[in-house]
Amino acid sequence: MYEDLKIILWPDPRLKKVSRDVTCFDDSLKSLTDRMFELMREHRGVGLAAPQVGINLRLFVMNPSGLPEDDRVYVNPLLSEAEGEEEAEEGCLSLPNISANIWRAKTMVMDALDLHGQKFRQEADGYLTRIWQHEFDHLNGTLLVQRMGPVAKLANRKIIKELEEKYAAEHGIEPKARKKRKS
Ligand SMILES: [Zn+2]
Repeated sequence: MYEDLKIILWPDPRLKKVSRDVTCFDDSLKSLTDRMFELMREHRGVGLAAPQVGINLRLFVMNPSGLPEDDRVYVNPLLSEAEGEEEAEEGCLSLPNISANIWRAKTMVMDALDLHGQKFRQEADGYLTRIWQHEFDHLNGTLLVQRMGPVAKLANRKIIKELEEKYAAEHGIEPKARKKRKS
């Protein structure tokens, strides 16, 4: 039922929404995450949040190593106990060809549910914590575009503009600049 899902790109409005909690832990939730893992691998990503496939539910999948046994699903995740700060480069499957240095907490505690609705708690640091925070941001409608500093914004300006123009052309939206001239 989810075969047709694909990764949606900036500035699709579904990426900017605050997603809602998952309340139903049935087979369709498993099918959804199976398809998300498939898309994540196809695009060589390490994480993918449901809003990135156009579904505004609070869940994400990730695999930091690429090994099948490291597939992880986090449903209704909550992050707490942030400690330390570090800056590193990040990319996003919804923002192709864009990368930016982003500050994130170094260590965090994750409380989430698994596919059966069972609670679990993990603590991690470094790369894992960075993926958690990136994917968690997606569930609140926050993307790298909003997180990056002025230098990264400037460096990526052209690519962001191209994505926005492509989206406008595909959805029959008049470019912003032309609208302004009219008024
Ligand atoms: Zn992303």
